[in-house]
Amino acid sequence: EVKQKGRDGWHFFNDSLEQKVRQRLSVTQGLRLAIERNELSPRFQPIVCADSGRIVGAELLLRWFPPEGEISPAIFIPIAEMTGAIVALGLWVFRQACRAEFDWRRRWSESAPAYISVNVSARQLSEQSLAEDFAEILRETGADPRRILLEITETSLMADIDNNLRVLQRLADLGMRVAVDDFGTGYSSLAQLTRLPVNVLKIDRAFVDGIETQSENRAVNRAIVGLARALGLKLVAEGVENIEQLLELRALGCDYIQGYLFHRPLEEPMFIDRFSHELQEQSLVGAEPPLFFLIYV
Ligand code: C2E
Ligand code: MG
Ligand code: MG
Ligand code: MG
Repeated sequence: EVKQKGRDGWHFFNDSLEQKVRQRLSVTQGLRLAIERNELSPRFQPIVCADSGRIVGAELLLRWFPPEGEISPAIFIPIAEMTGAIVALGLWVFRQACRAEFDWRRRWSESAPAYISVNVSARQLSEQSLAEDFAEILRETGADPRRILLEITETSLMADIDNNLRVLQRLADLGMRVAVDDFGTGYSSLAQLTRLPVNVLKIDRAFVDGIETQSENRAVNRAIVGLARALGLKLVAEGVENIEQLLELRALGCDYIQGYLFHRPLEEPMFIDRFSHELQEQSLVGAEPPLFFLIYV
């Protein structure tokens, strides 16, 4: 594509800006009705133990299917955050996670995944009623709060540290765990990190990408593994796409792995279908842990 300077350049700029504004407007209007129109759907992506390949958890990832076709969360989540629509969406998402936690525990009892991960955005943390609303949903659904992991990006955590500290403490008091999502992309003050009730770090995909070939990324991952150890936190690597990355992360001592190597995010019935057998097998006393890179690829 040729970008011209001068008048045409301006036209080009104006067009794309106008398109963006129009897209933002239609997303904003569409999102307002998405819940009642039944256009939202959760996906679940397994998170597995780096050593044994056992499924330890699943992350809920939101999907939106408006009439004109699917729109990626990378587009609609930031817009929902800007307009405040994320508050209602976030409660819907949290309810889905809680409902799944209850259903899965009833379905699989002890062999159910140990936790369900759910993304929470900064805008939700600034909502005064968040902890109360979550507590209410936990009660209504019968979910076990110790099996809910709240993922909050490093950038949003550090943005309003005093408020977040207060809110996270209330959520932790309810029994839920907290993960720092996309770790390594923000600017955490390590002092602040130790003040927050955090249990898990999730290494951003950007550092997993190229870990097999780029020594800088390997160095970053090694540093994050060391940090997690020192602070007593569990570590998840996201975006693991190939065996070389898996072996590298495992050698560094990363606890858990999430990525297309094992599975893409799945619709709930597919998740249940695909992993029921494995979940039951892995809970058998004395059962050999699966050599998961042979099984999942
Ligand atoms: P995230 O929380 O960091 O989620 C991980 C993203 O990486 C997901 O993208 C997932 O599908 C993708 N992914 C997983 N494994 C791989 C892999 O091996 N390779 C690659 N290339 N990608 C992989 P997704 O589902 O498009 O979501 C994007 C972001 O949107 C999420 O990043 C999260 O920040 C946000 N998001 C999604 N659902 C929700 C939600 O319910 N609430 C909030 N607040 N944010 C959400
Ligand atoms: Mg996440
Ligand atoms: Mg992430
Ligand atoms: Mg991300």
